[in-house]
Amino acid sequence: MNSLLERDVHLFDLDNTLYHPKNAILEQIGPRMRNFISHELGISLEASSTLCSDYYFRYGGTIRGIQLHYPSVDLNKFSEFSHQVELDNVEKATKLKDALHAFKKSRYVFTNSPLPYATRVLKHIDLYDCFDGIFSVELTGYKMKPDPHAFNKICQHFDFEASDAAFYDDQPSNIATAKKLGMRTILVNRDDIEHHDACYKTEDLPSFVASLIK
Ligand SMILES: [Mg+2]
Repeated sequence: MNSLLERDVHLFDLDNTLYHPKNAILEQIGPRMRNFISHELGISLEASSTLCSDYYFRYGGTIRGIQLHYPSVDLNKFSEFSHQVELDNVEKATKLKDALHAFKKSRYVFTNSPLPYATRVLKHIDLYDCFDGIFSVELTGYKMKPDPHAFNKICQHFDFEASDAAFYDDQPSNIATAKKLGMRTILVNRDDIEHHDACYKTEDLPSFVASLIK
């Protein structure tokens, strides 16, 4: 773990990283995206579903594919509609909050989600005041993770080098870019993956962060 403590900047993905996938928030967003696109493009729900997942895998996010292939779609409207999710059953991240507050490094949220949603989720799980800043998808011009562009942008935005950073995320493709750029990497909440390229792997981020505190 010493190799992580050498890093002064710690970047945390939001969805399924700062909260556990069992909260199933993304499972609410997917259908809303598919409905919006079906209505907006006048295509069947089935066709919309195929298109959304194709863009998600090709570009790291459906919205990037829509931006490239359907420039007439209002991305703000799409994003706002898609992210109107119910959070009532999502628990506060009390243990992670305590660990992050005690972890004396620069801490940023680095998410492919839009800022209003990221803010709402972070406030709901009570982690909003644990970070020095939020770098949301708008700041990448929707050229999001795993595109190296997003990583270069966050480095510029908060003025640090990739080699100063540790990167926590649940997506192996994002981990791969971070690693190539020289970040130390931690794959989070993926008990379905055995073989991976990350420097570390954890299914319990609160305990993992707590273990870094001396
Ligand atoms: Mg994620």
